[in-house]
Amino acid sequence: MNNLSVELTKTPKAKPADESKLGFGQIFSDHMLLVKYSKGKGWHDAKITPYQPIELWPAASVLHYSQSIFEGMKAYRAVDGTLRMFRPEENFKRLANSCRRMCIPEMDQQFQMESLVELLKVDQDWIPKSEGTSLYIRPFIIACKNFLGVHPADDYLYMVILSPSGAYYAEGLNPVKIYVEPGYVRAVRGGTGEVKTGANYAQSLKAQEEAEEQGYTQVLWLDGVERKYIEEVGAMNVFFVIDDEIVTPQLTGSILPGITRKSAVELLKHWGYKVSERRLSIDELEEAAKTGRLKEAFGTGTAAVVSPIGQLKYGDDVFTVNDGKIGEISQKLYDNLTGIQYGKVEDPFGWSYIIK
Ligand SMILES: *Cc1c(COP(=O)(O)O)cnc(C)c1O
Repeated sequence: MNNLSVELTKTPKAKPADESKLGFGQIFSDHMLLVKYSKGKGWHDAKITPYQPIELWPAASVLHYSQSIFEGMKAYRAVDGTLRMFRPEENFKRLANSCRRMCIPEMDQQFQMESLVELLKVDQDWIPKSEGTSLYIRPFIIACKNFLGVHPADDYLYMVILSPSGAYYAEGLNPVKIYVEPGYVRAVRGGTGEVKTGANYAQSLKAQEEAEEQGYTQVLWLDGVERKYIEEVGAMNVFFVIDDEIVTPQLTGSILPGITRKSAVELLKHWGYKVSERRLSIDELEEAAKTGRLKEAFGTGTAAVVSPIGQLKYGDDVFTVNDGKIGEISQKLYDNLTGIQYGKVEDPFGWSYIIK
C-alpha cells in the first residue's frame, strides 16, 4: 500500500512460550497501526510502527468525555495453514455506525481492511498455533483535541493493536454463573447501548464488581426502563432454549448488535431450528426454568464465541440450567462457529476471509 508507511521493530519480543497460558488481552504483538485525523486534512499519515506508548495532551477529549469507540475481532490459523478472519467487513461496518453515533469522522472501510491485512502480515508469527487460540484484534478511535469544551473533537487517532489470546473466560466451555442485575442499568433506548463505546463499559464496572464479589462471572442486564426484559450479558448477547424455541432478545436500540449473535441466528435457522428475536421478560424465563422448559442458555461474542450459562441468580432465586452442563445446541453452535473460523467444517455462507 503506497499510503501506508512501515517502521519495523529493531527489538522483536519473544513469542509466548506456553500457548496454554495465554489468557485474554495480556500480551501484545510487536507492531501496531496508527492513522491520524485532523480537521481539513482528514484521515492521514497511516503507519505501522513498533508497539509503544502514545503521546496525548492532558486535555485530550477522550480522557474527559469518553469520546471513543472500538471493535473486537480475531485472526485464526486455519487447519489448512491459511490465516483467516471471520466476517471482518461486519466489524468495519459496525465501527462506521459507532463513528456516526459518537460524532467521530468515518474512515474508508476498504482502507481499514487493507491496512489491517498489512499489519497482520507483519505480525503473522504472533497468530498462535494451538487449538482454540487466536490473535485478538482491537481497532479503536479516540478523540485527541487539546480542548476542554464539550464538543466533538477536531483531532482523532485510529489504532489497531493485536493480542495473542486463548480462552476469554477461565471456565472455557464450562458453564458460567450469571448474576441478573436488579438495580444498575447498562443502557436505555436512545442512549449508546447499541454502539461499541468505552463509556458503556466504564459505567458497567460497578455491577460487574459486585457480581464477582458474590461469585458470579458476569452480569445479565435487564432493560433500563422497566427492569423487566432481558437485554444482554456484559460483553455477550444471550440465547435461551425454551421448549423447542430458541429465543434471543430483539435489537431494540439498547442492545449491542453482535456479529456472533447474527451468525448464530443465521446458522440455527439454516439448520431448521425455530429462532425468535423477541422480547423476553425475566419472569417468563424464571417460569420456564421452574417448569423445566428452559433447556439451555448461552452467551455469544467474538471473545468467548459461545459461552454456556449454567446458573442464574435473580434476587433471592437461583436457578440452574441443564444441570449446570453445556447443552446440545450450545455445543453444536460452538463446534460449527469455531469449525468455520478454523476451516474445519464447510462454510455455507462464505464467512471466512482468507488473508492473502
Ligand atoms: C462486542 C459486544 C458484544 C458481542 O459482539 P460480537 O460482534 O459478537 O463480538 C456483545 N455485547 C456487547 C456489550 C459488546 O460490546
